[in-house]
Amino acid sequence: MYIVQIASECAPVIKAGGLGDVVYGLSRQLELQGNCVEIILPKYDCMRYDHIWGLHDAYRDLWVPWYGGTIHCSVYCGWVHGRLCFFIEPHSGDNFFNRGCYYGCNDDNMRFAFFSKAAMEFLLQSNKRPDIIHCHDWQTGLLPVMLYEMYQYHGMGNQRICYTIHNFKHQGIGGVDVLWGTGLHNESYYFQYNKLQDNFNPFALNFMKGGITYSNAVTTVSPNHAWEAHYTDVGCGLGHTIHLHQQKFKGVLNGIDYEFWNPESDRYIPYHYSKTDFDQKLYNKKALREKLLLGESEKPIIAYIGRLDNQKGVHLVHHAMYYALSRGAQFILLGSATEAGINSHFWHEKHHLNNNPDVHLEIGFNEELSHLIYAGADMMVVPSNYEPCGLTQMISLNYGTVPIVRGVGGLVNTVFDRDYNEEKPPEERNGYVFYQTDFNALESAMDRAIGLWYVYPKEFRKLALQGMQYDYSWNNPAKEYMEIYENIRHK
Ligand code: ADP
Repeated sequence: MYIVQIASECAPVIKAGGLGDVVYGLSRQLELQGNCVEIILPKYDCMRYDHIWGLHDAYRDLWVPWYGGTIHCSVYCGWVHGRLCFFIEPHSGDNFFNRGCYYGCNDDNMRFAFFSKAAMEFLLQSNKRPDIIHCHDWQTGLLPVMLYEMYQYHGMGNQRICYTIHNFKHQGIGGVDVLWGTGLHNESYYFQYNKLQDNFNPFALNFMKGGITYSNAVTTVSPNHAWEAHYTDVGCGLGHTIHLHQQKFKGVLNGIDYEFWNPESDRYIPYHYSKTDFDQKLYNKKALREKLLLGESEKPIIAYIGRLDNQKGVHLVHHAMYYALSRGAQFILLGSATEAGINSHFWHEKHHLNNNPDVHLEIGFNEELSHLIYAGADMMVVPSNYEPCGLTQMISLNYGTVPIVRGVGGLVNTVFDRDYNEEKPPEERNGYVFYQTDFNALESAMDRAIGLWYVYPKEFRKLALQGMQYDYSWNNPAKEYMEIYENIRHK
């Protein structure tokens, strides 16, 4: 099958979060399964050019209609760790992708509406006719609208669209003028409740709603998050739209790249280990302590790795740190905050705890250190407020690090409580789950984990090994996507 992925990120060349990992990992697995996959991305000035091999211009004169005129674009082509990527560069005074950042500009809606339009024009003008166009998140929400309202009448009648939502929080809500840019001129036609009008602001347009309404299949990144988006406020106002389109909506659990996240071959950890050679993990714990100047002692290490923001339950992260210390554990935090208040709070904590040999706070983004923490820690705490899928707990499981998670989103589909679980027999359980957002809930789960580590170390080790049995690679998710593609392809 010929599949084109269209997105605003692809790891590691453009990565702001999980979206980039998914676009890369899914594309790689789809190719391994025998498909032809291409990826279309914006050509940002700030992307990691060192991860692109053989970048060259593939299509010099792409003229993209935009408002009353046209914008001249060049399309470059190169390989990102084996994946064939096309990067669109517009030459206009707007400088859409030369901003030194991926997101966060006042005209983001305009920038990504233009990207969607340019991607469709590129397919049309270069005669690319994929069986499936797979687009992602709000940035590409207008693309299915354009396919079915315009491009299908210009020779793209056989293309089908799968649309994946990675985060409902950002939907691309804004003014209607953007429609004129894309050529969707009939404003009153599109600006209706059953089309692109935002469900709560009657004067605003909603890209993501357009994506849901017009695509042939819509997915989000875990089955439980699909349920939450449909029936709870996690859908951020799109619950009713999902309800109307529920027959084409599904949750497909993300995978992780087992080439990159593998304790048997990880290039960032000093001691490799596996299920059958689990004792080596202890040496990584020692190395981690040495690196971060933690005291050598008979204590478990509990870690947190992730963005420091409200989605991730920062108040619980903060509490977990002090509770771990009070219960005789060590704590390591690796996180970065975009919000100034949260950032300064954790810097303050870092200074406050500077001389404590049982805790280390590393504020910032550090890929290498994250690998050593996954390998050296005993437990990983993930107390998210909401979590569409979550990669940290899946990586932890593969490194034999026991996750302690809040039961939301994809965490419910991947972590099964050791003591309380009706779904899985004891030999298939792999962590600890709590549900409420208060301190008591977190403490009780941490108590159970720390208690097992101290009192029944063999049982704790067994639990860690049970986590390593799980297969959260892209293998199964890619098969599920293939099924979805096959279903829509013949409709
Ligand atoms: P989200 O996409 O919401 O940020 P995920 O759990 O889906 O969260 O993915 C987080 C990914 O980013 C994981 O691979 C995690 O290891 C990595 N990560 C998060 N924060 C950091 C950090 N400060 N340093 C290094 N890696 C990080």
